[in-house]
Amino acid sequence: MHITPSSLGEFAFCPQKFYYKKTLRKRESLKRIILKLIGKIMHLLYRKRGFEREKLMSAEIGDVVLVGKPDMFRVEEDFVEVVELKVKKMPKKANEHGLRIWNSDLVQVLAYGLMLEKIYGRGVKLKIKYVDGEVEVPFMKDVVFEYINEYVDVFKNGKEPRKIRDGRCKRCEYREMC
Ligand code: SF4
Repeated sequence: MHITPSSLGEFAFCPQKFYYKKTLRKRESLKRIILKLIGKIMHLLYRKRGFEREKLMSAEIGDVVLVGKPDMFRVEEDFVEVVELKVKKMPKKANEHGLRIWNSDLVQVLAYGLMLEKIYGRGVKLKIKYVDGEVEVPFMKDVVFEYINEYVDVFKNGKEPRKIRDGRCKRCEYREMC
């Protein structure tokens, strides 16, 4: 089974929402298309010397294959540094891990970490760059494996997706059917 780190990040936002998106194939909203475009421009403008950018890579992790393009990474002798760029602000409060990052971004960067660790056979340093600051992310493998297992349970083993009900449901395009 192939999984992209960005899909895993979306899945972490709300497994039920991602399930609807993947199975109903609704057209993307204009807001989302514009945000993606801004993201592409930001990625083009943000350059850091010595970093490779958006290279398609894959790695077999147990029964799944992670496939994706990390925004930026550089390979050093004993570690790989991975930087994800986000066109949004950091959350105001820290999450359960004491980090001011969104859960979907956390899971995405951890999945890239897993992929690059496997490819280059060395440790990883992870960072997320938001428009208002940068956060270094500890490599919490247990967290990303939890989401990979849950993803496989839903899309391979037919388990009912989990619903994350919170304030964001008000803006969810699937709230009527959820
Ligand atoms: S309404 Fe809430 S729980 Fe339901 S899919 Fe949307 S975000 Fe998830």
